[in-house]
Amino acid sequence: MNKKHLTGTLFLALLGWRAVTAVSLARAQEFNPAILVNEAVIDFPDEVTFTLELDDSAAITAVTLTYDVAQISCLEAEAQVPIEVTGNILSWTWVMSRSGNPPPGAELWWEWTLTTADGRTFTAPRQTVTLSDDRFDWQTVTADNIRLHWYRGDEVGPLLLDAAVAGLAQLEADMGIELQSEVHLYIYGSSEDMRQAVLYIQDWAGGVAFSEYNTILIGVPPSAAADWGRTTVRHELAHLVVGQFGRSCVGGHRPTWLNEGLAVYAQGAPDSGLLDDIADGIGNNRFEPLRSLNGAFPAHDDAAGMAYSQSYSVVDFMLDAYGPEKMQTLLLTLAQGEGYDAALEQVYGFNVDGLELAWRAAIGAPPRPIPPTPTPLSAARVPTIVPLGAPVSVPTPAATARAPTTTAATPAPQAEPETERPSPGGCGLGLMPLLLVFGLSRRKKGNNE
Ligand SMILES: [Zn+2]
Repeated sequence: MNKKHLTGTLFLALLGWRAVTAVSLARAQEFNPAILVNEAVIDFPDEVTFTLELDDSAAITAVTLTYDVAQISCLEAEAQVPIEVTGNILSWTWVMSRSGNPPPGAELWWEWTLTTADGRTFTAPRQTVTLSDDRFDWQTVTADNIRLHWYRGDEVGPLLLDAAVAGLAQLEADMGIELQSEVHLYIYGSSEDMRQAVLYIQDWAGGVAFSEYNTILIGVPPSAAADWGRTTVRHELAHLVVGQFGRSCVGGHRPTWLNEGLAVYAQGAPDSGLLDDIADGIGNNRFEPLRSLNGAFPAHDDAAGMAYSQSYSVVDFMLDAYGPEKMQTLLLTLAQGEGYDAALEQVYGFNVDGLELAWRAAIGAPPRPIPPTPTPLSAARVPTIVPLGAPVSVPTPAATARAPTTTAATPAPQAEPETERPSPGGCGLGLMPLLLVFGLSRRKKGNNE
């Protein structure tokens, strides 16, 4: 019996060995082509050329290139491109002038999948590369969850990093809202340099936020770093942070007065231009109905500047009178897709008109007669929804347009705020351009003249 048992065990062991051998042989026959080159050459921001060089492509009948750039998105947006097999070198160029370009720092990955006539497939190991703007010699300074890159003016990086840290500290202290994932700031040495890094950007732009990449690009000449640069960093950073807070794929918009009011609030203590606006609004009854600031801000510089100041005043009132928890709840309620009036009603017990009444009373502005039934929003005032995954970049007017040090040699560009791109739906709030700074400085300039 022992002998028989032993034989059986031996037989099973042999069987096992044979099975292993069979698997090994099958593996050996698997399709596993030799790859000589697998690379992506980046010509930022215009194109990326993917190349795969094989030792022998004779057996291959179909090839697919799959690629994507890591971003915050509610949809899988990877691209799959069928590639014609014409020899041992397979190549394809992603021309970004058709799609818009991701910002520098974005991570690109790609995979080649090869198929033979008899249906065997092979996917080459996934490759990744960082899209970098190699035109400049970048330096980097970092703080908690912030990476700031710059190349012009030794003091610019530390100065603006300090502004970013201060802005975040204020958001946390006053609103209880913290940065949730790492943000990258690319500080270009001029708005021209910055604009060359972004396809399809208005020629007056000085800054742009890519909220789906947690990346901000700003052109800051060293002479404008201490004032315009600091303010713009804090403003744009606030948009990203507040946008991250309660980000959802449900949909949901925030009224423009809330988004911009929060961003201006995060800039720090209000400057004299802003305080003048508020005094003017109270003294000369110049505030807009708050409801009219739910959507796009006025196109005219002065009116836009006043809209930012008014938005700031309303947000300042809300935080002061009702506290940060209610503001957080409001942001989360809006992120769940609730309408502006319904969300306010739910959290504060009044709608947009009720908020306006309370705010006006608190700051000493004359009450505005408000129709008993809330005015329906006109279609033109509702921000347009951009499909998720679409390249969205909303610019900030250039520093040269408003930096006090700017001379007449750099004429102020004619800003066209109505060309601002809308925020994407749901997952990308806070992309309105920084018209406040532009508007204020224009008026200041006007006052000096
Ligand atoms: Zn803004």
